[in-house]
Amino acid sequence: MLKELIRIADQQEVTLIAVSKTFPPDMIRRVYDLGVRDFGENKVQELLEKQALLPTDIRWHLIGHLQTNKVKQVASFIHMIHSVDSEKLLLEINRQGARLNRKIACLLQFHIAREETKYGFDIEQAVDLLKRTQQGDLPFISFSGVMGMATFSTDRTLIRAEFTALREIFIMLKSAFFADQPTFREVSMGMSGDWELALEEGSTMLRIGSLIFGDRT
Ligand SMILES: *Cc1c(COP(=O)(O)O)cnc(C)c1O
Repeated sequence: MLKELIRIADQQEVTLIAVSKTFPPDMIRRVYDLGVRDFGENKVQELLEKQALLPTDIRWHLIGHLQTNKVKQVASFIHMIHSVDSEKLLLEINRQGARLNRKIACLLQFHIAREETKYGFDIEQAVDLLKRTQQGDLPFISFSGVMGMATFSTDRTLIRAEFTALREIFIMLKSAFFADQPTFREVSMGMSGDWELALEEGSTMLRIGSLIFGDRT
């Protein structure tokens, strides 16, 4: 399956992120050896432990809810933070970026699912935030696109509609705030159960765990 995913990602020019949370470094190494360089983790401590043991050319993506007091620990090396879900977090990422003189790539996470438990902005909040923060007051944030998780469901129509909605949010924000910024280009959506739908709806980053590494126990 992994080789098939690598082939499809290449062909469609999307980024395949192997979500390695809960899996040990030796399993990550095997996936790395097949050519994958993008890996996703959802917990800072686990990410730090693995990062210390694995090749330095891995691009680490933080995909889980991030507490502001932990930004400092990943700011120097994180390739992209997919889970930016509050203004407070954005301000702290900017602050840590400033400390290191490093621009940090961030995706705005949107709440597109039915479940109440999933983190993320709604459109009004994000627009309000971007209106207030346009005039260069977040110089160490590289706004790179949007991220979302669909409802955990077997209803393909529902999942597709949620992915379409995220893609539309991306297009709207791009034209309203980032039209002149080529780095604002990613739509991070699609996991093991719904990646094909996500690709059809315009995903540029697939975050796939169990299909690559097996079931998490
Ligand atoms: C765990 C996780 C994934 C991958 O889930 P799988 O169903 O194992 O592919 C993707 N995105 C996020 C945010 C996750 O937490």
